[in-house]
Amino acid sequence: MSETIAVYPGSFDPITYGHLDILSRGLELVDKIIVAVAHNIEKSALFTVEERKEMIVESINGNPNVIVDSFDGLLVDYVKKVNARFVIRGLRAMSDFEYEFQMASMNRNLNQNMDTIFMMTSKDYFFISSRTIKEVAGFGGCVSGFVPPPVEKRLKEKFFKK
Ligand code: ADP
Repeated sequence: MSETIAVYPGSFDPITYGHLDILSRGLELVDKIIVAVAHNIEKSALFTVEERKEMIVESINGNPNVIVDSFDGLLVDYVKKVNARFVIRGLRAMSDFEYEFQMASMNRNLNQNMDTIFMMTSKDYFFISSRTIKEVAGFGGCVSGFVPPPVEKRLKEKFFKK
Protein backbone atom coordinates (compact mmCIF):
# COMPACT_ATOMS: atom_id res chain seq x y z
CA MET A 1 0.00 0.00 0.00
CA SER A 2 1.27 3.49 -0.79
CA GLU A 3 1.87 5.86 2.09
CA THR A 4 -0.57 8.60 3.03
CA ILE A 5 0.91 12.07 2.86
CA ALA A 6 -0.47 15.26 4.37
CA VAL A 7 0.68 18.84 3.98
CA TYR A 8 0.71 21.08 7.06
CA PRO A 9 0.91 24.59 5.61
CA GLY A 10 1.40 27.85 7.48
CA SER A 11 3.61 30.83 8.16
CA PHE A 12 5.46 29.21 11.10
CA ASP A 13 6.99 32.59 11.98
CA PRO A 14 8.23 30.96 14.20
CA ILE A 15 7.15 27.36 14.94
CA THR A 16 5.63 26.93 18.44
CA TYR A 17 4.68 24.07 20.75
CA GLY A 18 1.12 24.56 19.41
CA HIS A 19 2.28 23.71 15.89
CA LEU A 20 4.39 20.78 17.15
CA ASP A 21 1.42 19.37 19.03
CA ILE A 22 -0.72 19.39 15.86
CA LEU A 23 2.18 17.81 13.99
CA SER A 24 2.66 14.90 16.38
CA ARG A 25 -1.07 14.23 16.62
CA GLY A 26 -1.35 14.46 12.83
CA LEU A 27 1.30 11.77 12.49
CA GLU A 28 -1.08 9.37 14.21
CA LEU A 29 -3.41 9.80 11.24
CA VAL A 30 -1.07 9.76 8.24
CA ASP A 31 2.32 8.26 7.38
CA LYS A 32 4.16 11.43 6.44
CA ILE A 33 3.61 15.13 6.99
CA ILE A 34 5.20 17.82 4.89
CA VAL A 35 5.46 21.02 6.92
CA ALA A 36 5.21 23.63 4.19
CA VAL A 37 6.23 27.20 4.95
CA ALA A 38 4.20 29.62 2.86
CA HIS A 39 5.89 32.49 1.06
CA ASN A 40 3.10 34.79 2.22
CA ILE A 41 3.18 38.17 0.55
CA GLU A 42 0.45 39.64 2.73
CA LYS A 43 2.04 38.96 6.09
CA SER A 44 5.23 40.73 7.05
CA ALA A 45 7.41 38.10 8.66
CA LEU A 46 10.05 38.39 11.36
CA PHE A 47 12.08 35.45 10.06
CA THR A 48 12.98 34.62 6.45
CA VAL A 49 11.51 31.46 4.94
CA GLU A 50 14.96 29.82 5.21
CA GLU A 51 15.24 30.71 8.91
CA ARG A 52 11.72 29.39 9.55
CA LYS A 53 12.57 26.11 7.82
CA GLU A 54 15.79 25.78 9.81
CA MET A 55 13.93 26.30 13.09
CA ILE A 56 11.39 23.61 12.13
CA VAL A 57 14.20 21.15 11.31
CA GLU A 58 15.88 22.00 14.63
CA SER A 59 12.58 21.36 16.47
CA ILE A 60 11.51 17.98 15.07
CA ASN A 61 14.47 15.96 16.38
CA GLY A 62 15.18 14.17 13.13
CA ASN A 63 11.73 12.59 12.87
CA PRO A 64 11.94 10.70 9.54
CA ASN A 65 8.20 11.08 8.92
CA VAL A 66 8.37 14.86 8.77
CA ILE A 67 9.58 16.70 5.70
CA VAL A 68 10.25 20.44 5.80
CA ASP A 69 9.65 22.46 2.66
CA SER A 70 8.29 25.79 1.44
CA PHE A 71 5.88 26.75 -1.28
CA ASP A 72 4.80 29.67 -3.37
CA GLY A 73 1.41 30.23 -4.98
CA LEU A 74 -1.68 28.10 -4.59
CA LEU A 75 -1.75 25.46 -1.89
CA VAL A 76 -3.79 23.10 -4.10
CA ASP A 77 -1.06 23.16 -6.75
CA TYR A 78 1.57 22.34 -4.16
CA VAL A 79 -0.56 19.55 -2.71
CA LYS A 80 -0.90 18.02 -6.18
CA LYS A 81 2.82 18.37 -6.89
CA VAL A 82 3.84 16.45 -3.76
CA ASN A 83 1.08 13.85 -4.19
CA ALA A 84 -0.54 14.58 -0.86
CA ARG A 85 -4.07 13.48 -0.01
CA PHE A 86 -4.70 15.73 2.99
CA VAL A 87 -4.06 19.19 4.32
CA ILE A 88 -3.81 19.56 8.10
CA ARG A 89 -4.82 22.74 9.90
CA GLY A 90 -5.17 23.55 13.57
CA LEU A 91 -8.13 25.35 15.09
CA ARG A 92 -7.63 27.46 18.16
CA ALA A 93 -10.78 29.53 18.51
CA MET A 94 -14.09 30.24 16.85
CA SER A 95 -12.37 33.18 15.20
CA ASP A 96 -10.16 30.75 13.22
CA PHE A 97 -13.20 28.90 11.96
CA GLU A 98 -14.72 31.20 9.35
CA TYR A 99 -11.51 31.80 7.42
CA GLU A 100 -10.50 28.14 7.62
CA PHE A 101 -13.93 26.98 6.47
CA GLN A 102 -13.81 29.30 3.46
CA MET A 103 -10.27 28.25 2.53
CA ALA A 104 -11.04 24.54 2.89
CA SER A 105 -14.21 24.87 0.80
CA MET A 106 -12.38 26.84 -1.90
CA ASN A 107 -9.50 24.36 -1.96
CA ARG A 108 -11.91 21.45 -2.16
CA ASN A 109 -13.53 23.13 -5.17
CA LEU A 110 -10.17 23.58 -6.84
CA ASN A 111 -9.03 20.03 -6.12
CA GLN A 112 -11.63 17.33 -5.36
CA ASN A 113 -8.92 14.83 -4.46
CA MET A 114 -7.85 16.74 -1.43
CA ASP A 115 -9.43 17.00 2.01
CA THR A 116 -8.62 19.28 4.92
CA ILE A 117 -8.27 17.70 8.35
CA PHE A 118 -8.91 20.12 11.21
CA MET A 119 -7.42 19.35 14.56
CA MET A 120 -8.53 21.10 17.71
CA THR A 121 -5.76 22.71 19.67
CA SER A 122 -4.87 21.06 22.99
CA LYS A 123 -5.99 22.83 26.14
CA ASP A 124 -2.36 23.62 26.96
CA TYR A 125 -1.72 25.43 23.68
CA PHE A 126 -4.90 27.23 22.60
CA PHE A 127 -3.50 30.64 23.63
CA ILE A 128 -0.21 30.24 21.77
CA SER A 129 0.24 31.99 18.45
CA SER A 130 3.38 33.02 16.60
CA ARG A 131 2.20 36.63 16.83
CA THR A 132 1.90 36.71 20.63
CA ILE A 133 5.22 34.86 20.98
CA LYS A 134 6.91 37.59 18.94
CA GLU A 135 5.27 40.31 21.02
CA VAL A 136 6.33 38.76 24.31
CA ALA A 137 9.86 37.93 23.13
CA GLY A 138 10.26 41.41 21.62
CA PHE A 139 9.67 42.95 25.05
CA GLY A 140 12.14 40.56 26.66
CA GLY A 141 9.52 38.21 28.17
CA CYS A 142 10.23 34.53 28.71
CA VAL A 143 8.78 32.26 26.01
CA SER A 144 10.47 29.00 27.02
CA GLY A 145 7.12 27.34 27.80
CA PHE A 146 5.75 28.10 24.35
CA VAL A 147 8.54 27.44 21.83
CA PRO A 148 11.33 24.85 21.61
CA PRO A 149 14.81 25.94 22.80
CA PRO A 150 16.29 26.52 19.30
CA VAL A 151 13.43 28.94 18.54
CA GLU A 152 13.84 30.73 21.86
CA LYS A 153 17.52 31.22 21.04
CA ARG A 154 16.77 32.61 17.57
CA LEU A 155 14.18 35.00 18.96
CA LYS A 156 16.73 36.38 21.42
CA GLU A 157 19.28 36.76 18.62
CA LYS A 158 16.77 38.49 16.38
CA PHE A 159 15.60 40.99 18.97
CA PHE A 160 18.62 41.60 21.16
CA LYS A 161 21.85 40.80 19.29
CA LYS A 162 23.25 43.20 16.78
P1 ADP B 1 -1.14 30.88 9.12
O1 ADP B 1 -0.30 32.08 8.85
O2 ADP B 1 -1.53 30.09 7.93
O3 ADP B 1 -2.27 31.09 10.09
P2 ADP B 1 0.35 29.74 11.26
O4 ADP B 1 1.81 29.51 11.19
O5 ADP B 1 -0.11 30.82 12.16
O6 ADP B 1 -0.14 29.90 9.81
O7 ADP B 1 -0.37 28.39 11.67
C1 ADP B 1 -0.38 27.26 10.85
C2 ADP B 1 -1.49 26.36 11.31
O8 ADP B 1 -1.24 25.95 12.66
C3 ADP B 1 -2.86 26.99 11.31
O9 ADP B 1 -3.80 26.02 10.94
C4 ADP B 1 -3.06 27.40 12.74
O10 ADP B 1 -4.43 27.45 13.09
C5 ADP B 1 -2.36 26.27 13.46
N1 ADP B 1 -1.91 26.67 14.78
C6 ADP B 1 -1.11 27.70 15.12
N2 ADP B 1 -0.94 27.79 16.46
C7 ADP B 1 -1.67 26.77 16.99
C8 ADP B 1 -1.95 26.32 18.34
N3 ADP B 1 -1.45 26.95 19.39
N4 ADP B 1 -2.75 25.23 18.48
C9 ADP B 1 -3.28 24.62 17.40
N5 ADP B 1 -3.09 24.99 16.13
C10 ADP B 1 -2.30 26.05 15.92
